[in-house]
Amino acid sequence: RKTRIAILFGGRSAEHDVSRASAANVLRSLDPDRYDATAIGITREGRWIVAGAGNGAGTGSGALAIPNDGPQLALLPGGQGRALVLDGHTTVRDLPAFDVVFPVLHGPNGEDGTVQGALELSDVAYVGSRVMGSAAAMDKDVAKRLMRDAGLPIVPYVAMSAMAPIAYDDAVAAVGSPELFVKPANMGSSVGVSKARTAGEFDTCCKLAFRFDSKILIERSLAPIREVECSVLEDATGLIRASQLGEIVPSDKHGFYSYDAKYLDADGALLRVPADVPPALADRIRELAIKTFRVLGCEGMARIDFFLHGEQAFVNEANTLPGFTDISMYPRLWEATGLPQSELMDILIGHALERHKRSR
Ligand code: ATP
Ligand code: MG
Ligand code: MG
Ligand code: MG
Repeated sequence: RKTRIAILFGGRSAEHDVSRASAANVLRSLDPDRYDATAIGITREGRWIVAGAGNGAGTGSGALAIPNDGPQLALLPGGQGRALVLDGHTTVRDLPAFDVVFPVLHGPNGEDGTVQGALELSDVAYVGSRVMGSAAAMDKDVAKRLMRDAGLPIVPYVAMSAMAPIAYDDAVAAVGSPELFVKPANMGSSVGVSKARTAGEFDTCCKLAFRFDSKILIERSLAPIREVECSVLEDATGLIRASQLGEIVPSDKHGFYSYDAKYLDADGALLRVPADVPPALADRIRELAIKTFRVLGCEGMARIDFFLHGEQAFVNEANTLPGFTDISMYPRLWEATGLPQSELMDILIGHALERHKRSR
């Protein structure tokens, strides 16, 4: 029989819209002969709503919509794919049980271990990292501490909480540069990320980042840099492999790979696949990607982002639920490495099912 898969998307995160675009693409790439898919949208307020069943739900272009009047779900521990049950006030009763859940959620309340914890409690198989790997990778401060401890090359930074503000001059002294990148500790899609060159700008940048998290990072701004990304994939046997590299060249008008450059401006950035990096350096980056994956406790998949500063490679961050939109790097890099997206889905789902079987 077909594998029954529930796709979770949307979510209580500033990356809600990106997730809707990712989910549409994931649905499209599932082989309809092998999977029965149900899309479950999580509204910005956190309500779980059945958005569509069958792979047809993902056809057509654009983002997946969450209906206002769909059946609502509550997540309860149940086991054996019966975790998702209808809440009291709905009439729909024949909700299918699931073999596996694919949380196509980005950012807090989805990529950070929260949903993964709920799925653990519910005893269902799910795609990707578990609680610790998700949380460790999502929190850039925690991730950098783990990476530093493992000897991985990271960009100098300081973490700051609203309770203990750091003055611009002290931040400059701590990271060794007057140009600073300021970002929320837990976020993605460049939401809340900005660059400061003066004390005045620094103040504005910190306020922006604090809108999204109570802890922010202040990093040395590397210039000039090249940005390269590597997709990492773990299969059901535990084999971990790294893809070809891709390079991102943000257009000058955006200054860096901002949210607008990523998702709003069609010409916001050029994606070069494979990246034009000498083979020896590319191999070293792939090794660093796999090491980062292991150090942070990632499972299943992650996209590891790097900065190249001359010959020097720095690990910037790991994304445990990377973008899956039509233009996203994660699936694209696997395509370029010879793994079509439908087969990528098979491996991710196979890993999830095998891990769940072993844990029982
Ligand atoms: P993602 O969508 O990849 O999850 P994110 O929100 O987690 O993004 P980062 O990848 O850390 O954020 O930063 C977003 C972008 O900001 C980078 O791709 C890069 O263009 C720029 N950037 C971030 N930190 C630095 C830095 N220290 N020096 C130079 N540029 C930086
Ligand atoms: Mg990120
Ligand atoms: Mg991200
Ligand atoms: Mg990034």
